[in-house]
Amino acid sequence: MSFSLHGLPVSNGIAIGHAHLVSHAMLEVSHYVLPKNMVHQEVARLNEALEATRKELAGLREFRPQQAAAEFDAFLDLHLMILADEHISTAAREMIVREQCNAEWALKTQMETLVSQFEAFEDAYLRERKTDVVQVVERVLQTMSGQPGHTPPSAQHDKNLILVAHDVSPADLIQLKSHQFSAILTDLGGATSHTAIVARGLNTPCIVGLHHARELIKDNDMLIIDGEQGVVLVNPDKQLLAEYKLRQSQLDIERQKLKRLKTAHANTLDGTHIELHANIEMPQDLIEVKENGATGIGLFRSEFLFLNRDHLPEEEEQFEAYRSVVEGMDGLPVTIRTFDLGADKQIKNASRVASNPALGLRAIRLCLAEPQLFRTQLRALLRASAYGKLKILVPMLSGVAEINQTLQFIETTKQSLAAEGIAYNPEIKIGGMIEIPAAALSLNVFIRKLDFLSIGTNDLIQYTLAIDRTDEEVSHLYDPLHPAVLHLLAHVISSANKAEVPISVCGEMAGEVAYTRLLLGMGLRNFSMNSAQLLASKQRVLTTSLPEILPLTLKILRADDPLKIQELLSKLNAG
Ligand code: PEP
Ligand code: MG
Repeated sequence: MSFSLHGLPVSNGIAIGHAHLVSHAMLEVSHYVLPKNMVHQEVARLNEALEATRKELAGLREFRPQQAAAEFDAFLDLHLMILADEHISTAAREMIVREQCNAEWALKTQMETLVSQFEAFEDAYLRERKTDVVQVVERVLQTMSGQPGHTPPSAQHDKNLILVAHDVSPADLIQLKSHQFSAILTDLGGATSHTAIVARGLNTPCIVGLHHARELIKDNDMLIIDGEQGVVLVNPDKQLLAEYKLRQSQLDIERQKLKRLKTAHANTLDGTHIELHANIEMPQDLIEVKENGATGIGLFRSEFLFLNRDHLPEEEEQFEAYRSVVEGMDGLPVTIRTFDLGADKQIKNASRVASNPALGLRAIRLCLAEPQLFRTQLRALLRASAYGKLKILVPMLSGVAEINQTLQFIETTKQSLAAEGIAYNPEIKIGGMIEIPAAALSLNVFIRKLDFLSIGTNDLIQYTLAIDRTDEEVSHLYDPLHPAVLHLLAHVISSANKAEVPISVCGEMAGEVAYTRLLLGMGLRNFSMNSAQLLASKQRVLTTSLPEILPLTLKILRADDPLKIQELLSKLNAG
């Protein structure tokens, strides 16, 4: 049956492929320690699930499609072989005994080990088999949770798999990076949630907030994803398929054309230079940063080093990560944000989840409450500053007390490094994020005490409009063009410019071409965004004349009717 679903567009592009449903079981495996006397029972539970899954797979032979019997049998044999493989079953049993952990956790851990071994294979076919490992483990996990099993995915191991999940955490999405899904669909999530931000960085079409996709789409359904419109077409007819294939190749051509701008200087028509920097989550993201010609890193969300881990990384590991980014950028500026943990980025096994995480012990508040954690990071950052142009950016500052405390921490860390004879840059620049309305409204103290500022529009909008950015139920109210938001932005940018304190925007607004001219008109000269958005933004900069956009920008700032604002913005973006 053909039908369509509508959600919140997150990442552009068109994908055509088969649905791959990801069970909750797979993504939300919990970890707990068992009492010693329960360990054998847990091993027995695992054995039962493995045997039930074996029977289920063997039973599937009866349902094989006539036209693809041979491939289907090969697929089942492969999955049965993986299921029996001692790297999964025996290793998981041993882990349960050794670590007294639950069977699901042991299975998932063994799967991850095996997947990373497969990824190292030179041979593309063998590398591809990691998908089978994941599917087999998923099936066992589903058996354990008492849910019915999947229908088998395409026997041909379709490369164009589209991930369909109820929800994916940012941490899970980072792990799924290696699976190379051709699109990502989720029922939950807002367009500026961290899951959405990571998906955008993957340069993969993504739609969130689909509500019932996981329920309505079946495994292996043919899907067309229109990432720009936020539309999913399920089991489309031939004509639609042909139309979208054509649009897909047109988009490919446009993307290829944009690549020519990689080395062009981002100057407006009147000759003003604009800095276009990149946001990254992991040191590995430098590949895309370079491919898209960023002239610096405007935001390294360092907390992603913490996700997916049981233990926080030690100073040495952090230092190596920061140094590799700084050195990798060959003298270009690198702004590393101190940990913004909490809210939708929880550490694994976090001891406590706040009742309202976005307003809880998050970001700098958490760092100041955990001095050891903060000091370790500051030591690693300061040490890495000896290797290039590293700047430190502090998230979620709300006022002078937090600024003073933070600067004090940095000062004492510098002193102890100096006493130990360890090199660091004594002139290192310290900046603050403007992402709480209180910060925007008491900007003078930020200007006085800090070396640079960066506006986090994702949170600034969330807190100004009182809208949870991760909640799709209120996403229609999340409005970057709300006059209150525009006034705060214009105020912060012009005040910083007047005081000659460098100011950038590193929230998602910075990478949205629809807002490039508006921000330029407000006086912004430094943008930081996902690498995938960089060349399109550069193209917009190259076709903009600052004197021409100024009058319309002022009109937008004076307007208070949303329709009028939209109309004026369209005019601003025309031509
Ligand atoms: C922001 O809030 O705009 C920002 C850049 O930080 P994050 O998205 O990581 O909260
Ligand atoms: Mg933020």
